[in-house]
Amino acid sequence: MQFSQPASARVINKLRVLNLIASSEETSRADVARELGLNKVSTSEIVDQLVAEGLVSELGKRQTSVGRRPTDLALQKDAKAVISVDIGMRNTSITMVNLAGDPLRFERFPTPKRPSPEEMCATIIRTANKILSRMKDPSIVSGMAVAINGMVEPATGTVLSLADWGWDNVPLAVALSRHLPFPVIVDNNVKCMVQGEKWFGNLPVDKSLFYVNWGEHIGAAWVMEGKVVSNDCQFGHLPVAKTGLCHCGAIGCLETVASGWALVEEALMFSKESDLTVKQLCTHSETDPNADALLKRACEAMANAIISAAAILRPDHILIGGGISGLPERYFNLLKDTYAQRAPARISMVSKLDKATLGERAGSMGTAAVALDEFIYKRSLLDQLRRHQGI
Ligand SMILES: [Zn+2]
Repeated sequence: MQFSQPASARVINKLRVLNLIASSEETSRADVARELGLNKVSTSEIVDQLVAEGLVSELGKRQTSVGRRPTDLALQKDAKAVISVDIGMRNTSITMVNLAGDPLRFERFPTPKRPSPEEMCATIIRTANKILSRMKDPSIVSGMAVAINGMVEPATGTVLSLADWGWDNVPLAVALSRHLPFPVIVDNNVKCMVQGEKWFGNLPVDKSLFYVNWGEHIGAAWVMEGKVVSNDCQFGHLPVAKTGLCHCGAIGCLETVASGWALVEEALMFSKESDLTVKQLCTHSETDPNADALLKRACEAMANAIISAAAILRPDHILIGGGISGLPERYFNLLKDTYAQRAPARISMVSKLDKATLGERAGSMGTAAVALDEFIYKRSLLDQLRRHQGI
């Protein structure tokens, strides 16, 4: 391993040691040194530093049949925390997780209708401060990641465009961090969901992936070697029908048949209720043939659109996450069966279609993974170094 600055090498090695301890059930200083190819003295210095910072603790001696008994190291998972904010078009979730990704606090509220940036920021700041005020030690929060359904410039945390709300060039990260006691980053929501699958869903990084976020709107990302290479994919606007005005101005987009907003709009036309959620629509579908027909049509349209995408991209995996991916099993099976029956074998044999592991939690857990990566573990950076320098 070659680094131009010894200080950088020390920082990188400290991250590698922390990541190894965090992902091991049982490990000792000698195990860490052997696994990472480091010498014992510098490994011990790094572990001492992590223990002094409260991130790692030393457990009792391990039972072995022969030789010296090593002391086990363990992650102090509540030593630090991060906050994730998943801004959905209908609901916004704010979750605080510890170093193991376990949720510690959770707040969810309806997203205001077409909120201004000022209104959205004020609501997030108020809710985050409520969470902080209930903590014994709020200084353990290392940072906040925000996911939003728009085109984002992650380097500056600027929302370049969110057409549905009329947002253009909104410096969201700067606006939030001015009023919060920790740094804030902002990224596109589908990118965050993919990151969540990598962290919590054991997604194989060497495979290509087409990830569909099926929710109030329909987004998608194309992922290769664990990296999102395209997140401004207009998958929700593939034409699949002859009628139906889409929010984008076109006719017959996938969103007009299968998105949360379109399902609710159509369902309200034959319902006595003044408002509905897709979850309620799913419950009604057990007894209401209109609701059942809407959901079946949505699943078939989604399957057809996925076949089009798979024919061009030929991904190893197609994963469906987001709020609507949690719809009853009979509908998800209909989607899978339609895909299997209508896709030519040379597509369906290559591109396997599945529900994302995190399902409905993909947004909040994905954003938590992005926060843990940025403020604690830097696994994306270590992955890049591994690829380029072979460490
Ligand atoms: Zn459209």
